[in-house]
Amino acid sequence: MPKMSIQDIDVTGKKILLRVDFNVPLTGGEVQDDTRIRAALLTIRYLLERGASLILVSHLGRPKGQVKPGLRLDPVARRLAELLGRPVRKLDAVVGPGVEAAISELTPGDIILLENVRFEKGEEKNDPELARLLAKQADIFVNDAFGTAHRAHASTAGVAGYIPAYAGLLMNKEIEVLSRCLENPGRPLLVILGGAKVSDKINVVRRFLALADTLLIGGGMANTFLAAQGYAMGDSFYEQDRVDEAARLLEESRQSGCQVMLPEDLAVTLELKENSPFDIVAPDAIREGWKAVDIGPETARRFSAAVAQAGMVIWNGPLGVFETPPFHRGTEAVARAIAASSAYSVVGGGDVVAALEQLGLAKEISFISTGGGATLEFWEGKELPGIAALKDKESQ
Ligand code: ADP
Ligand code: MG
Repeated sequence: MPKMSIQDIDVTGKKILLRVDFNVPLTGGEVQDDTRIRAALLTIRYLLERGASLILVSHLGRPKGQVKPGLRLDPVARRLAELLGRPVRKLDAVVGPGVEAAISELTPGDIILLENVRFEKGEEKNDPELARLLAKQADIFVNDAFGTAHRAHASTAGVAGYIPAYAGLLMNKEIEVLSRCLENPGRPLLVILGGAKVSDKINVVRRFLALADTLLIGGGMANTFLAAQGYAMGDSFYEQDRVDEAARLLEESRQSGCQVMLPEDLAVTLELKENSPFDIVAPDAIREGWKAVDIGPETARRFSAAVAQAGMVIWNGPLGVFETPPFHRGTEAVARAIAASSAYSVVGGGDVVAALEQLGLAKEISFISTGGGATLEFWEGKELPGIAALKDKESQ
């Protein structure tokens, strides 16, 4: 069901409770990477330009319902003020009389940033009282924090029970692109799945087996599939207790008509550390004590050729232990193939995005989802509470 966004309503003069994802890394009391703050600027500027006043709310880290001084949002407020070139009033509480007084003084164009919402015990429990207090003085709720949309928390879902809720521009774009992946993908649709575990992603694998024309599997996940084909995986990381499930998925793929490609060569090493000696072997030649830590060059070539044929590419999970060079090479080769192709590309998941950034190739991707778990759950077809809570678009 399509959701209403801030583009569908008049926001002039409104006091808006805006849920953003300012869960940024801090070092020495300063923001170390402001990517997420920058990502929210689009919606913030859009609303300010139209004469709204903003009450921003975000979590940072995992304070688990307690005040943790190191997780206060003051450094975030300073950075945001710099980026916007206007003052941001940071409050030391999430709700309460001080907050209410500050909100009652808001005039169009003003911005308040509330304290870390996870300092409140009620946040992660989706406590209705906290949600009511958050919503109390705002006219509408806007959610732009796609990365936490899979959590039913007071500031992502609960507040929508009290005031009308709309998608921000970032959230709207996520919903639009990720829905297109499932409902109306470009063809041929190529899906690339890697990362560590099959167990994290069984439902995503199943979903894409039904949907994709071709599915490429690499990373630690491929090891479990190779074990399911009967190969001895030596000392490789794989999930023994998922081998049967992996075999079933391969069986299903034969029925669905999705072509599944597993690695036909692998980079193997005795010890996983930077620049450790390695060998390239076929899956039937992994010796005792060796671990498969990347796809091999022949597999990288086949995967890249498949990318070149695709109309749309969806990618989650790195294809090797990219953090430990030279085992980033398979991931890099496939990223370069995507950069060279004209296919629309969508990448989601924390680590694969980190890999692309490390390789300087993130800008070559058509759309990078800001969600990790949220993106995977969306692709699984689960209803995300933070999206379900938004107003439905009236059908024309
Ligand atoms: P994402 O965050 O993109 O969804 P995951 O969290 O599932 O990805 O997995 C990322 C991790 O998988 C990385 O830390 C990477 O080192 C690891 N990985 C990739 N290939 C292998 C492999 N062959 N053996 C062990 N770990 C691997
Ligand atoms: Mg991850």
